Amino acid sequence: MAQACKMFIDGQWVATASGETREIINPADGKGIGTVTEGTAEDVKTAVAAAKRAFYEDGWWDTPAADRARLLYRVADRLEERAEEFARLDTMDNGKPLRETEDDVADTISCFRYYAGLATKPHGQTYEVSDPMQSMVVREPVGVCSQIIPWNYPLMMAAWKLAPALAAGNTVVFKPSELTPLSAVKLFEIFEEAGFPKGVTNLVLGPGPTVGNEMASNHDVDKVAFTGGTVTGRKIMEASIGNLKKVSLELGGKSPNIVFSDADFETAVDYALFGIFAGQGQICSAGSRLLLEESIYDKFMDRLVERAKKIKVGPGLDPGTEMGPLVSEAHMNKVLDYIRIGQEEGARLACGGKRLQSNGLDQGYFVEPTIFVDTKPDMRIVQEEIFGPVLAVQTFKDEEEAIRLANDTIYGLAGSVFTEDGAKAQRVIRKLRAGITWINCYHPTYNEAPWGGYKQSGIGRELGTFGYNEYTEVKQINVNLQVEPLGWYQG
Ligand code: NAD
Repeated sequence: MAQACKMFIDGQWVATASGETREIINPADGKGIGTVTEGTAEDVKTAVAAAKRAFYEDGWWDTPAADRARLLYRVADRLEERAEEFARLDTMDNGKPLRETEDDVADTISCFRYYAGLATKPHGQTYEVSDPMQSMVVREPVGVCSQIIPWNYPLMMAAWKLAPALAAGNTVVFKPSELTPLSAVKLFEIFEEAGFPKGVTNLVLGPGPTVGNEMASNHDVDKVAFTGGTVTGRKIMEASIGNLKKVSLELGGKSPNIVFSDADFETAVDYALFGIFAGQGQICSAGSRLLLEESIYDKFMDRLVERAKKIKVGPGLDPGTEMGPLVSEAHMNKVLDYIRIGQEEGARLACGGKRLQSNGLDQGYFVEPTIFVDTKPDMRIVQEEIFGPVLAVQTFKDEEEAIRLANDTIYGLAGSVFTEDGAKAQRVIRKLRAGITWINCYHPTYNEAPWGGYKQSGIGRELGTFGYNEYTEVKQINVNLQVEPLGWYQG
């Protein structure tokens, strides 16, 4: 049996002291594809101590920005050389089709390059204040950052966290999801090859309630950055209180995709499918609620269902596959539970609704593309994040009702509007209480633009300069240009 993958702590590959391991499963066939060491809170403590030393004593934060940039460019170059290997690994670990993980790897490479470039760009400001003073602002790294990510973008989410943190001069303790750690292990091999100093980049592996909790609660951690479910986000925030560390959270969503009757019909149908079924619906910003103007409901649903039924579901590595399995058996069961709940609540299945087990899919965790109609706004399948290939369709009479329904959940991550009326598109999009929005499309995401949610979808932003700034502290420096006593006291 191949050796279990290790953690990378203080420049060394280490196994946890207990010797415990975890098997990693391919969700397409339920078979093991590797094992990893199962870390503990003690491993986190060691990693945090290393990151603290690397930051405060070894002086990583004080290294020239150009040096940090060079290392990050090197990471991007190495990833590019091994792009196909990373795409296949994430497909085997997460399940999504290869064409999606190939895009994820390409975005990961650009993310490292974007932040490598940003590291050396100007970040400060100066203010005109009263003579003879000059006031200026510099940005400095926060310090030791804990970073915790979910399983839906195993490599890309890692880049969204690690690239800005390192570019800004922080040291990191990073944890992938316990379900999908394999590409993160390879990424840290690349960090080692690239030549980051000891203790700057630390990888810990293991479950959230122990390893993740220590990362959030440890008093030597200056910031915790988390992506995952809203319930877990609350736990992270509670755990972080002890030393009032900085917290940024990228959480769940139940995002509305609003289609007006004057929308380009085929475009709107196409993106409605892509909005919910890309990544098997396991995307935080998925368009999981389709809001249709009543007058186009029948025509739209006919076409949507016809096309949803044709989506080719299969193993992500098969070239013809358009939708893969869900990430794990437990998650599949959670999604199937929601489908049952939807039916019990009185919603009607327009298509899908079942686990797929024919044609060689019996050992995997496949669920049919599923669409619910006849929903009511207070149903759980309309209000709660299912995180699977399950679309809830709602209808509206006019613009006002569309906006009201769109905003009627605890979430505020994403949303879109389809209409040929430019002014209406702008009016509606401005009224959506959501951080990521689209007009006449769904899902495109850019490293340059901020990512994050309103309401209970999160705190802070990732990507772009906004994401970089989350990893910095702001310091004002006031300089006296005329050095002489103030004379405030007479004696
Ligand atoms: P999750 O919250 O169960 O787990 C996410 C990570 O947190 C994992 O690494 C897990 O080990 C860790 N964790 C779990 N409990 C913890 C605890 N008590 N303390 C510290 N860490 C803990 O989420 P998931 O099931 O892996 O991912 C799905 C969720 O992620 C969805 O809700 C989705 O919307 C969200 N998500 C959000 C974004 C975004 O950018 N807003 C992106 C991707 C996924």
